[in-house]
Amino acid sequence: MTMYSIGVDIGGTKIAAGLVSAQGEIVAQTRRPTPSDDPTKLEALVAEAVLEVAGEHEISGVGVAAAGFVDAAGEKVIFAPNLAWRNHPLAERVRALVPFAVHVDNDANAAGWAEYQFGAARAANDMLMLTVGTGLGGAMVTNGNLVRGAYGFAAEVGHLRVVPHGHRCGCGMDGCWEQYVSGNALVRDARQLLSEGGELAAGLLDVSGGDADRVNGPMITTLAKAGDPGCVALLQELGRWLGEGAASVVNLLDSDVVVIGGGVSDAGALLLEPAQEAFTKCLTARAYRTPARVVLAEMGNDAGMVGAADLARLAAQGH
Ligand SMILES: [Zn+2]
Repeated sequence: MTMYSIGVDIGGTKIAAGLVSAQGEIVAQTRRPTPSDDPTKLEALVAEAVLEVAGEHEISGVGVAAAGFVDAAGEKVIFAPNLAWRNHPLAERVRALVPFAVHVDNDANAAGWAEYQFGAARAANDMLMLTVGTGLGGAMVTNGNLVRGAYGFAAEVGHLRVVPHGHRCGCGMDGCWEQYVSGNALVRDARQLLSEGGELAAGLLDVSGGDADRVNGPMITTLAKAGDPGCVALLQELGRWLGEGAASVVNLLDSDVVVIGGGVSDAGALLLEPAQEAFTKCLTARAYRTPARVVLAEMGNDAGMVGAADLARLAAQGH
């Protein structure tokens, strides 16, 4: 009988659960809406989704990916910015509702692991993944191992301080990388461009009707793809910050591949090309080394689910 594992990705709006093979293929999947204010209801929905995709299959374990700080043991969500979890024993709670082993992981770690095992970094040994979504998340694999750190807080690359006294960050510091490379940063800069007016703001003005509140990430990407010079410039600037910062991190890790994922990476080459250019320019000893490849993620929205499932499969083998 084929053995499967189950991955559950708890997002801000939906819970996605999938039955996943050892080769990373999703065999069955289901969804539930995320109840944002009721942890007990959320756990019941996670269990319901897990049991639905499990069916009569043999299950090696369940991996749950959550947006938040997860302890190194994969048991507790220490803190989740968007959900009501503080030192929350999520693994134990779900374990009480399903007849399987349950592990919790940070969602960016899970997505990064999926890219490493099955996606854009599958041929690599040392990977840096940068997830450019609302914020900037990261995952690191060194010598084949996912780096979680002593307490599970590793790879928070979004809060590397890149600009002393720069833009204020939600974490309480200022000048964090995430304030220059994220969907939030992109929208902030687009609104600024709109308020300044001028030729480069013409496309945004046209589509938003001059209402800054209507400007969002997909709007900017769509305009840029249609050749709007203002939005192309915004993505170029973001790509430059992305590449320069990635070079700093690769100076530390010596990764062989940098994977760019998250919603903003839908911009494709408009983001990737300026990132690659800045990355190559800023890498130390660039004339004497093989520079890391900077590539787009391949696993899409399923990455968190597939990665969480694979991490649960490996945990069952004692990894
Ligand atoms: Zn910060």
